[in-house]
Amino acid sequence: MTMLTLAPEYIRAIAPYQPGKPVAELAREMGLDPATIVKLASNENPLGMGPKARAAVEKEIADLARYPDGNGFELKAKIAEKYQVASEQIVLGNGSNDVLELIAHAFLQAGDTAVYAEYAFAVYPLATQAMGATGICVKALDYGHDLDAMRAAILPSTKIVWIANPNNPTGTLARPGDLIEFLELCPSHVLVVLDEAYTEFLPAAKRSDSIAWLKRFPNLIVVRTFSKAFGLAGLRVGFALASPEIIDMLNRVRQAFNVNSLAQAAATAALDDEEFLQASVRVNNQGMQQITDAFRQLGISFIESAGNFVTFHCGDARMLNQFMLERGVIVRPLAGYGMPNSLRVSIGLPAENARFIEVLQQAMND
Ligand SMILES: *Cc1c(COP(=O)(O)O)cnc(C)c1O
Repeated sequence: MTMLTLAPEYIRAIAPYQPGKPVAELAREMGLDPATIVKLASNENPLGMGPKARAAVEKEIADLARYPDGNGFELKAKIAEKYQVASEQIVLGNGSNDVLELIAHAFLQAGDTAVYAEYAFAVYPLATQAMGATGICVKALDYGHDLDAMRAAILPSTKIVWIANPNNPTGTLARPGDLIEFLELCPSHVLVVLDEAYTEFLPAAKRSDSIAWLKRFPNLIVVRTFSKAFGLAGLRVGFALASPEIIDMLNRVRQAFNVNSLAQAAATAALDDEEFLQASVRVNNQGMQQITDAFRQLGISFIESAGNFVTFHCGDARMLNQFMLERGVIVRPLAGYGMPNSLRVSIGLPAENARFIEVLQQAMND
């Protein structure tokens, strides 16, 4: 007997999440100066954190010997005000990843199934499998969610449908009307998790009014994060909005102090920093233009993206990835998503995008 056999079979079967390579790790491996490395691998905000969030963190440092507010009173009050929901409709997480796991924890057990799309965010199969439940992976339609097929895939054992909108890593976007139709036709005892990690980047016309839908659909859970447009990935904070009954269940499996005090203070301040949010969107739009223009010029095909990243096709992605790493550019391989011929690049600052494009050009001339 080895220690491995102590873990349940469904845990041993999990393939761990592969995060983007940290700058320090690449610097060590390649003997590069970290200051010259461009990391466009984890969809982080290239502007860093906003000034209001930074000021809030600096102020909060004085109280770090204390436990954080386990109920996140101020952050929930701010979220409630901003999104017009009751505090009882909010659960906070150590990143939205934590929230996704709380949902799986509270509602899934062995024998249950959960539906997600091919190429959808990798955390959905992981969170499902970690509970001993079974994932139902529905073939993608043009790299996006095939909502009709996902509805058809729902079984009597299905407890959750996971939807990322926009989806990571493909950047595909479902139309609001199609999502409403999905919710109308979905059995009311199936939870629909709408993960909107990139919603702030969308133009108003393309954004789903998903929070308003909560009134109509008590089985809907809307998940948001501070990691992307708000620029707080390192602090780890996200939240879910849902009916008070669902939130009550999520709170039962939540660690009492799952969101640290720096994260709570920063997120509360970030929600008031409209200027920073707009700057983030502007930088993203310009960078998306810069990178996709280069793809077109170089004849590289890519998936039109509504997020702060874009997936492009490149033949042997492993080789191109290695070529880029050796030159200090970190992008995201997608072999784990079943896309061995594609890479995902996050939108950076103009100079970072330019460096990525330069190395891509070199690779094509090589
Ligand atoms: C980045 C991302 C998240 C999670 O981010 P956290 O940092 O855990 O808040 C969730 N869903 C999708 C689709 C993402 O791309």
